[in-house]
Amino acid sequence: MGTAAFSFVNPADLDGGVGSQPTAKALARRSKQRRQILVMIGASYVIDAGVLLLYAQAGSTPLMIAPAYAASGLTLVIFSAILSEFGFNERFKDHYLVAPQATVCMLIALAFTYLAPEVGGMFLCTLFIVFSFSSLRSSPAQTMVIWTAMTIGLAGLFLLTDKPISMPHGSHLERFATLLVFVLTIGRCMFLGIFSSSLKQSLYQSGLKLKEAYKRIEELAELDELTGSYNRRCIMRMLDEEIARAGRTGAPCSIALIDLDWFKRINDAFGHPTGDEVLRTFAITMFANIRGIDRFGRYGGEEFLLVLPDMSTENAVRTLDRLRGIIAELDWSAFSPDMRVTISAGVATLTPEETPDLFLARADCALYAAKARGRNRIASA
Ligand code: GH3
Ligand code: MG
Ligand code: MG
Repeated sequence: MGTAAFSFVNPADLDGGVGSQPTAKALARRSKQRRQILVMIGASYVIDAGVLLLYAQAGSTPLMIAPAYAASGLTLVIFSAILSEFGFNERFKDHYLVAPQATVCMLIALAFTYLAPEVGGMFLCTLFIVFSFSSLRSSPAQTMVIWTAMTIGLAGLFLLTDKPISMPHGSHLERFATLLVFVLTIGRCMFLGIFSSSLKQSLYQSGLKLKEAYKRIEELAELDELTGSYNRRCIMRMLDEEIARAGRTGAPCSIALIDLDWFKRINDAFGHPTGDEVLRTFAITMFANIRGIDRFGRYGGEEFLLVLPDMSTENAVRTLDRLRGIIAELDWSAFSPDMRVTISAGVATLTPEETPDLFLARADCALYAAKARGRNRIASA
């Protein structure tokens, strides 16, 4: 019963929600969930029929009422099961068809209150279960419609008829049966309440999972797969942001275009996979030696862009020279005993009213100059 309860509100069935076609697996799961719900509804009618038998035994109501009530509920269950098995429910957003089922349950309760008013209180008690159940899945509008229909039905019953609706309590057996009515009704309502808190908990959990997945997607969309540095799109966006910020605050902003020297030779001599490892090691080393506010991304191939907010040309050149020294002195012998890796960089500092393209072009010119002067060096624009 617990599993059935949980699956009634399992957010996993949201994958078959509006706008997406549920998979065969999702359809099978939903069909199984509906079967579980129908078993619950059927069981609920059988329980009440049992209490009605006690009332019949006590002589408060005709014997026929119990089987008739069970038959009405089970007819609803069987009819719903047929519709469900033929996939009729899948045409609707709420594939459990809670609102129509709640309406039929309500009509059965009102009809039996009319037919057997001597135990009418018991049928009216089942309305609490029907509404606890339907409010879990129905929209507020649907719940209001069913509630209004019920109010009209009850008004008809109480105001337009003079049926002596009551709960038998004369004999000991009658008092016991009435006690059962309350105990079982409250029990079923409590069960549905626990249900809805497990819904909230499981929705909360899937919300957390979704958030995590979304964050991961965002990260993946911003990072370069090989080096873990920002990808070109992202570092360009960051450059735009830093240029705008420097424009607002008047703080200096420097950039460096960094290129690995003779990288083609590294690939040729040690193989492309080793070249990839070199790129990764270079990026990790860079990350370990830049400030938290600096932005480092892959501009393309073996060329990287370092954005240095609040930094003058002089400091940027000094920083880049420090980084150049660190890379040049790294121990690359794990890749190959005679491997050497160096970088060259072109540094530029933002001038007033400069566009990102011009800014980058000046850094590129400086990089070209650093290469021309023999590599493993820094040049500024
Ligand atoms: P220079 O000092 O003038 O920059 O010489 P270079 O050999 O580094 O320059 P070039 O632009 O001729 O070669 C860059 C090489 O970088 C060529 C390309 O195969 C390699 N490369 C680009 N992206 C990757 C990558 O993701 N992995 C590996 N292993 N190699 C890459
Ligand atoms: Mg190169
Ligand atoms: Mg290059």
